[in-house]
Amino acid sequence: MGEAILKVKGLVRHFGAVKAVDGIDFELEAGHVVGFIGANGAGKTTTMRLLTTLDLPDSGEILFDGVDLMQYPEVVKPRIGWMPDGFDPVAGMTVQDYIDFFARAYGLTGKRRVDEVARVLEFCGITELKDRYINKLSKGQTQRMSLARMLIGNPDFLVMDEPAAGLDPQARLEFKQLVKTLREQGKTLLISSHILSELAEMCDTLIFMNQGRIIRTGTRESLEAATAEKGVGYNIRVLADETAAALAWLREQEEWEQVLLMPDGSISARCKSADEQVVAQCLRKIYTAYTVLEASRQRRNLEETFVNILQNQQ
Ligand code: ATP
Repeated sequence: MGEAILKVKGLVRHFGAVKAVDGIDFELEAGHVVGFIGANGAGKTTTMRLLTTLDLPDSGEILFDGVDLMQYPEVVKPRIGWMPDGFDPVAGMTVQDYIDFFARAYGLTGKRRVDEVARVLEFCGITELKDRYINKLSKGQTQRMSLARMLIGNPDFLVMDEPAAGLDPQARLEFKQLVKTLREQGKTLLISSHILSELAEMCDTLIFMNQGRIIRTGTRESLEAATAEKGVGYNIRVLADETAAALAWLREQEEWEQVLLMPDGSISARCKSADEQVVAQCLRKIYTAYTVLEASRQRRNLEETFVNILQNQQ
């Protein structure tokens, strides 16, 4: 792991009998986009509120760039941007008013404030919406405005609670592009979601949370590998007139299982071993017996990985 910008140790936040955050430890690498994944009620929002100084833990420590967040919130706070899950739009307030309100709250005055408001509106592509009423915006436009609000003061750690929820495919694509740009600027992002595929492509690291605890962290690849079932799945395409024979042949082979003909004419099969040497050997045998046009390894999606992690926990 590279340099950690955030270190969380033994963090606890209970609400009566509800152990919303129940003793968690994790570190975030500077410049990474980190997906924070968990079902409803897992404790993500509570954790994020603690990281952004909006709430205080019962115990534990949060170090941001080596500075104790609880002891020196005023030092750390300007460096942290927060995008909450939804907001209450005030009728009669324009996008410009809204962003300007938060720029004031940030402590900006005069020309600096005017310039900063213009900068974040421009960055989020909503300059032309600045005179629109905030309670009349679409979901995607509202999300861009919330992003703009978060970016006031140019914080280097961005915490976003369910930012992609409810976005249409086009807005989601645009959001991904913004995340990419922010990452290229060297910012560290923590993004929560309970819809795992929303985060799949944009994250370097994933943190899985369940019932107040961190149950697994790692890169997407390492998590998939660690939770892999025995064996590996392949999609194999042979010449069309060899497909039936190849299907029958694969079904007879001891090394392969779950051999299926797919609607697109390819064959899906599972090599029982995940050992690379064995897999290579099995593939070589197919290549020798048939005219293989394509053999690609099946990737499990994040949803399956998450379910697998939860099952292994129980
Ligand atoms: P979601 O995806 O639904 O937002 P989450 O992972 O963000 O879920 P939290 O909102 O952190 O989960 O909630 C964790 C648990 O703590 C839940 O059982 C919730 O009801 C409880 N909780 C959160 N905030 C409070 C509060 N202020 N008072 C009492 N209980 C709370």
